[in-house]
Amino acid sequence: MNLIQHADSPRYIQLNALDNVVVVVNDQGVPAGTQFDNGLVTLDNVPQSHKVNLVDIAEGEPVIRYGHTIGYALQAIPRGSWVREDQLRMPTAPPLDSLPLSTDVPEKAEPLEGFTFEGYRNADGTVGTRNILGITTTVQCVTGVLDHAVKRIRDELLPKYPNVDDVVALTHSYGCGVAITAKDAYIPIRTVRNLARNPNLGGEALVISLGCEKLQPGQVMHENDSSVDLDDPWLYRLQDSSHGFVEMIEQIMDMAETRLKKLDQRRRETVPASELILGMQCGGSDAFSGITANPALGYASDLLLRAGATVMFSEVTEVRDAIYLLTSRAETIEVAQELVREMDWYDRYLAKGEADRSANTTPGNKKGGLSNIVEKSLGSIVKSGRSAINGVLGPGERFTRKGLIFCATPASDFVCGTLQLAAGMNLHVFTTGRGTPYGLAMAPVVKVSTRTELSQRWPDLIDIDAGRIATGRASIEDLGWELFHYYLDVASGKKKTCAEALRLHNDITLFNPAPIT
Ligand code: CA
Repeated sequence: MNLIQHADSPRYIQLNALDNVVVVVNDQGVPAGTQFDNGLVTLDNVPQSHKVNLVDIAEGEPVIRYGHTIGYALQAIPRGSWVREDQLRMPTAPPLDSLPLSTDVPEKAEPLEGFTFEGYRNADGTVGTRNILGITTTVQCVTGVLDHAVKRIRDELLPKYPNVDDVVALTHSYGCGVAITAKDAYIPIRTVRNLARNPNLGGEALVISLGCEKLQPGQVMHENDSSVDLDDPWLYRLQDSSHGFVEMIEQIMDMAETRLKKLDQRRRETVPASELILGMQCGGSDAFSGITANPALGYASDLLLRAGATVMFSEVTEVRDAIYLLTSRAETIEVAQELVREMDWYDRYLAKGEADRSANTTPGNKKGGLSNIVEKSLGSIVKSGRSAINGVLGPGERFTRKGLIFCATPASDFVCGTLQLAAGMNLHVFTTGRGTPYGLAMAPVVKVSTRTELSQRWPDLIDIDAGRIATGRASIEDLGWELFHYYLDVASGKKKTCAEALRLHNDITLFNPAPIT
């Protein structure tokens, strides 16, 4: 009874004592004239997850959330108003030449010992959370044939090899008709190469090529060696077929069956939690993202790091405005400088397209109460927890060390997911406020809702409801531990995520900043 009353009475969340705006929690919002426990009375109808000001804000004064300025009032905003985007002037992005570098490095927390999961050990030292047959491609030209073959492999071959979880075609839009020697072409090229090395594919994938394309199999199969070994048993070029489509399908299925036999011999074994490589991102964010789901991810991230694991966070445009909070946390000045380098690269990339960071927020973000990218960023970086940042990866680069890693990717859900797969993640977690059925074929995706209402509407798409934090039914610490155990269970194959059970998969989406010819 207590809980229901609690959830129905007018309720808001203030995150930081400095904040002069708070966020309404009630599912239906609150009408004008609502009085909160502390006497604050609303002047407008305020929808759920939108902001109300606690004090009168004069024209030009800062509007403060998360303890930081998210905008300046364009006009006086009387106490109790619905504070909206059109009332705010956005602050300029923090300049990159005067950031605090490694000035506030968190101390290493006490190690968490004894946590394990059941995974597949690979020859290259990585561990898979799934045992998937991957078939990669050098060029879009082969996609139709490969998709046809994969359907037959799934229907006719996979049932014979019960220890193999799935077969996945790594199809993409790159490979030909592209400026392959352009300055930034290394990004899509190394992404294609590193995707095929994802731990969930047993460390290696079959390669299907056309034959005459610009991206040659050697570039996909080996770093720093573009020579093509046509005798490689795991490579097939469609143009080598002398009898057309039927022969192509037979060849691919033969190769697949040979590899399936090998993969089917593998068994899960107990490995330390330190073998987990978690990729985190958010999509369809709202004003609750930074209050419920992202802080819970941050707590779980700190636990994983104490257990020795690798945790990646990303989305350059969603950290850019809060970058000073990350450069100060970098373990070394070099790591801080790498963060600055990635921000600078992205600033110039956006400028080349005559866009800026404000292009990030979506109509859905704004409907969900996020006024601008500054507010979105402050809520987004909470995912990274409180630990020191140990390393930085460029887009498409593969991980080289454990710890908390900033993997520089666009915020686009599919591009970020693809680049984190290339970086080597074996498990993905995704927070959402507005809701998305997002999923990936190569790694399980745990979806966490920022609000209870979403998880109740979409019980078969949302794995974990972090909205319980807003309604007072769970603490950030409770949710953090719940996520930590859930990650280990999903990694072990003991639990399937919603997207996995429903086979919901977004396409591999490469980041290609180089020209197309
Ligand atoms: Ca995203």
